[in-house]
Amino acid sequence: MDCIFCKIVSGEIPSYKVYEDDDILAFLDIIPVNPGHTLVIPKKHYETILDTPDDVLKNILVVSKRIAQKIMEVTGAEGFNFNQNNFSVSGQVVPHVHFHIIPRFENDGLKLWAGDKYDDGQAEILTKKIRIYND
Ligand code: 5GP
Ligand code: ZN
Repeated sequence: MDCIFCKIVSGEIPSYKVYEDDDILAFLDIIPVNPGHTLVIPKKHYETILDTPDDVLKNILVVSKRIAQKIMEVTGAEGFNFNQNNFSVSGQVVPHVHFHIIPRFENDGLKLWAGDKYDDGQAEILTKKIRIYND
């Protein structure tokens, strides 16, 4: 498969690995937003979280927590972003599902995207449409 991250998993493309088990690999992002910026991926190829099995996602979350803790300790970061893009319109460039752990520092100049208020009634309508009930 012609996928950069599959090639990183197979070792065809080198990477700085910070975690590995049977199913998950984590390595430094080649163009870090801040030093220590790490990508966590399933070794098997899935495109987005929507086609990634739930058990894999759960394991990635638990592993990511450990890695984030370590990154904070090592870099002295005061926080981190845990980001994840799905499909190209969201900014996903590599179509192999991945989670960004980005260490954050006071005054590092990074800004979150801007938000805007809902129109009158729009939030109610959307809530009714999106709401999922567990019954
Ligand atoms: P996306 O925009 O898809 O959420 O993020 C893809 C990330 O993969 C980017 O932050 C980019 O720097 C990183 N990346 C792309 N190619 C490589 C590579 O060959 N090696 C590593 N380590 N990271 C890569
Ligand atoms: Zn892949």
